[in-house]
Amino acid sequence: MNSTLVARPIMALPNDQDHTGRDLGQEEIELLKQVIATGTLTSTKGTFTKRLEELFAKKIGIKHAYACTSGTAALHIAIAAIDPNPGDEIVTTSITDMGALTPMLYQGAIPVFAEVDPVTLNVTAETIAAKISPKTKAIMVTHLFGNPCIMGPIMELANKHNLPVIEDCAQAFMAKENGQFVGTFGTISCFSTQQGKHMTTGEGGLVCTNDDALGRRCFLLINKAWGYGDPKPDHYFAALNYRMSEIQSAVALAQLAKLDSVAERRIKAANKLDKMLAGIKGIQTPRVEPGAVHTYWKYCLTVDGNVIKDGAIGLAGKLKERGIASAPRYIQKPSFMCEVFQKRRTFGTSGYPFNLARPEAVDYDKAKFPMTFKALEDVLVLPWNELYTDEHINYISDSIRECVEALR
Ligand SMILES: *Cc1c(COP(=O)(O)O)cnc(C)c1O
Repeated sequence: MNSTLVARPIMALPNDQDHTGRDLGQEEIELLKQVIATGTLTSTKGTFTKRLEELFAKKIGIKHAYACTSGTAALHIAIAAIDPNPGDEIVTTSITDMGALTPMLYQGAIPVFAEVDPVTLNVTAETIAAKISPKTKAIMVTHLFGNPCIMGPIMELANKHNLPVIEDCAQAFMAKENGQFVGTFGTISCFSTQQGKHMTTGEGGLVCTNDDALGRRCFLLINKAWGYGDPKPDHYFAALNYRMSEIQSAVALAQLAKLDSVAERRIKAANKLDKMLAGIKGIQTPRVEPGAVHTYWKYCLTVDGNVIKDGAIGLAGKLKERGIASAPRYIQKPSFMCEVFQKRRTFGTSGYPFNLARPEAVDYDKAKFPMTFKALEDVLVLPWNELYTDEHINYISDSIRECVEALR
């Protein structure tokens, strides 16, 4: 039988889904007033989105940044910019947001899932290499939870095979690897400004590149491929309207000015919790590779089910009694276990593009993904926030310590 926890008042933690955990205020309101006063709310005519794009590019040190409607849109734009042929393969991670995968299907490409490191839940050069085939057209990596993938060996591998790399940085604003911001290693990088991300416009995204030709394609892919400003503009190819509005860009400009401080506060709070949890048997604090800067979109524990009763699920249940809403198993199952992949629910009854795939590329046999399943079994994702105070961190730390003890 589990011992019961010490009765203790529940402390409400800042929540990134509402005002308690979002740094939205006068700065955003001021810019919103300004944009409304201009009467121009489309980015094709206004100046706010252009300013956002310039400032964001400058912030991470990249040549081109384009704002768009979501992180999913940014990823769709990146994939379409690379322009795979139907049936081409993109090697990606088994643990990511579906917003990184459905755009591949829309472009006729086959996601091929690489295994992940069971502690960081990130892909590595080794796990990617195991999935490269003559059909591979690109590599997509996700810097999961704000913890950077180790990019040196990944870029070496990509260059050896002459493959473009798309970096999904939706969770990793301001994260660094080897002294360089993530989003500047690969060929194209994507960010999301959805409600819960490091900076938010409710919904929104950014796509970045140092390559002029790809930058041009990204711009066109946001604008129905209409050649704005060209001597003889036309709709050059199939593309959607993925424009961010000037209203969102006004909010984004205010948020961008706070981004450094948001990242710093998240890191500081995480470092404090790392110290407080050090040495507790049965849990492991986030592993950050030497030379990497993790910016903690979330704070993940690795839970040892041999030490803690019912592992991550058990610990999550106990933490819930403390009012701490953690997520065991993160996305619950690897992306390829979702119906869209299992039942090939895409375009009518065609099964496209899966019907073009090599059988090995769409082999979703669980036995082939031991590290992915291990990673999901052991991970416990704690909500994280730049507005956590020392009191919040003390509360989280005390709660984890007591819950772990109760489950031993
Ligand atoms: C949030 C997220 C996305 C999708 O972004 P949206 O803005 O929600 O479309 C893609 N990839 C990752 C890793 C994400 O966390």
